[in-house]
Amino acid sequence: MSLITLTVLGSGTSVGVPFVGCHCDVCTSTDPRDNRLRPSVWVRFDGRDVVIDTTPDFRYQALRVHIPKLDAILLTHGHADHILGLDDVRPFNFRQAGNIPVYGSADTLSIVRRVFQYVFSEAVSESSRPKLETVTIDATPFPLFDREIVPIPLFHGSMPVFGFRIGKLAYLTDHNRIPEASMALLQGLDTLFLDALRYKPHPTHSTVSESLAIVEKLQPRVAYFTHICHDLGHQRAESMLPDNVRLAYDGLTVTVDA
Ligand SMILES: [Zn+2]
Ligand SMILES: [Zn+2]
Ligand SMILES: [Zn+2]
Repeated sequence: MSLITLTVLGSGTSVGVPFVGCHCDVCTSTDPRDNRLRPSVWVRFDGRDVVIDTTPDFRYQALRVHIPKLDAILLTHGHADHILGLDDVRPFNFRQAGNIPVYGSADTLSIVRRVFQYVFSEAVSESSRPKLETVTIDATPFPLFDREIVPIPLFHGSMPVFGFRIGKLAYLTDHNRIPEASMALLQGLDTLFLDALRYKPHPTHSTVSESLAIVEKLQPRVAYFTHICHDLGHQRAESMLPDNVRLAYDGLTVTVDA
């Protein structure tokens, strides 16, 4: 079977790490793994390049890991830290033909159309605009090139969001509740990414202990925690985790046998 490769473009929470103006041990750490851009991943399979979310750091993230082209964008939800880099797909449009498909729920795409009104406007523009084609998804698995993508319904506070499963890889971010029906979609995973913002409870994000409980139930071969704030220093936080649970960091690349 062919492989799926995932590279973490950003492992940080909505404001990134360091936090602007903060002088805590993590924000001033010299460990590069404590430098976390906003949350996103680049997934490669069958010669295709797909990103999950386009963060405000998207331009720098794409430069940093040399994303060569962009075949599709999957959006988890419409919060600023997950969509605001969408305009920065233009350099890909300049070099490749056609519109880039953007997959998201009806709610997510309605936010995208509002925030990026000029992109979808019929009016003639003198400036370059991203060439995008929105594709509305629900919880039904859908084909992406020659793969099947399984949307995983999650709750982010009261907001429904999607995680995505591709083969034995699942990427779930911005959740604090996973419905039982979604847990059933997450069986038999090799690699599972989960939101784990911090140790203290949060109304819309999973904590380290809550995500450990999810790992305990789902038993993937390995789990990575992401969407991390400055409460977690990489080395110390990871040393307290079981061997099959790691903290994601920017630039981390994992390969999963499809
Ligand atoms: Zn977020
Ligand atoms: Zn800090
Ligand atoms: Zn969010």
